[in-house]
Amino acid sequence: STQPSGASTAQSEALFDRARRVTPGGVNSPVRAFRSVGGVPRFMASADGAYLTDADGTRYVDYIGSWGPMILGHNHPAVRDAVVQAAQDGTSFGAPGWREVDLAELVCRVTGAQKVRFVNSGTEATMSALRLARGFTGRKYTLKFRGNYHGHADALLVEAGSGLMTNADQLGTAAPSSAGVPDEYARLTLVSEYNDPQALDALMRERGHEIAAVIFEPVVGNAGVLLPTPDFLSALHRVREHGTLLIADEVMTGFRLSANGATGRLGLTPDLSCWGKIIGGGLPVGAYGGRAEIMDFVSPQGPVYQAGTLSGNPLAMSAGLATLQALQDDPGLYARLDAYTERLAQGLQAAADEAGVTVCINHVGSMLTVFFQAGPVATYTDAARSDTAAFAVWFQGLLRRGVYWAPSQFESIFVSGVHGDTELQATLQAAREAFLEVAAH
Ligand code: PMP
Repeated sequence: STQPSGASTAQSEALFDRARRVTPGGVNSPVRAFRSVGGVPRFMASADGAYLTDADGTRYVDYIGSWGPMILGHNHPAVRDAVVQAAQDGTSFGAPGWREVDLAELVCRVTGAQKVRFVNSGTEATMSALRLARGFTGRKYTLKFRGNYHGHADALLVEAGSGLMTNADQLGTAAPSSAGVPDEYARLTLVSEYNDPQALDALMRERGHEIAAVIFEPVVGNAGVLLPTPDFLSALHRVREHGTLLIADEVMTGFRLSANGATGRLGLTPDLSCWGKIIGGGLPVGAYGGRAEIMDFVSPQGPVYQAGTLSGNPLAMSAGLATLQALQDDPGLYARLDAYTERLAQGLQAAADEAGVTVCINHVGSMLTVFFQAGPVATYTDAARSDTAAFAVWFQGLLRRGVYWAPSQFESIFVSGVHGDTELQATLQAAREAFLEVAAH
């Protein structure tokens, strides 16, 4: 394994103490605080390839990949060089530049979208796509699925998955999923069960005429990994019969599950798509796009207002451009990611079996979740039955052995193109030992 057990966490503890005094919970995004797994969150100092190095100098095989963006691994030379070059050209203009045109053309070519608009996060992308759908259709209701997370806009913080499942003790699981979201807002968001085509058909028959859009994670990462059934995908396509737009939230899956995301992999044809994470190559970028007829409703072309001081920022665009170009230049990458993840899944299942620990492993492409339960896990309700205490023991066992797994039962891990045999063997060795700790617990 990559580090001695019991490596010091003194620097992380000191930083966490300081952070808690000046930042709520000591972090700038909740799941980083290790609330559901316990222990001190590791404060990172640097990242390279498949590894993170924390403030105490401890190195970890990284399975977070910054929660998705780092599909090429950290500190990729082409991405770093592009960002440095962009910084030398000026970090923000408040006027358009060539990089956002290049990236828009590339995104349109790869995804089949006719037009895209860049924003600064996945949250902004989904929020803006919903406003656009409402403006385009003239309807006010939207529909989402239980346990799907689409960022933290008010209308979407309803039955919203991972970060909220992890902190369910504080937030509760009833709609809305956050304090500060008025019931009146939440009432405009209808909720159906993922992977339940009958429920979706029934709701659409009843209320389809007033629903502007159905937004969904084509493969769910935010309840842990959930795979859509073919019947559910068919039901999603049927929502159009009611004049309702289909919005694929590909923030997590876009450019990850294939060059054209989950949409490409599953043969989906949404009206609008939302992107984030990989599209910015580790810098803050989101985007939404689709048919020109719809996108032309966005200002200044159309009546739906949406803007951003730093939208299309040249530094952020440069990282996205270099990342998507590197993906284009390496057509074998997705097969390698799939193969690594498949071997990881098989190795983890064997290790759990050997230790006598019951798990259900869901995985697709380079996304994977080890649910601590017998399974099958197809819905949020299924996922919620997992043994989160057992997961926490396993997570700590991995961390002590130099493997940084996602610090919640209800998250996907993300494999990168620079995870290879060395990382796989180190991970499986750590996992075998950690499963034994779970069994002994
Ligand atoms: N949609 C999905 C599917 C996501 O996974 C996320 C973030 N995990 C978001 C939207 C929100 O993106 P961001 O955190 O960049 O606002």
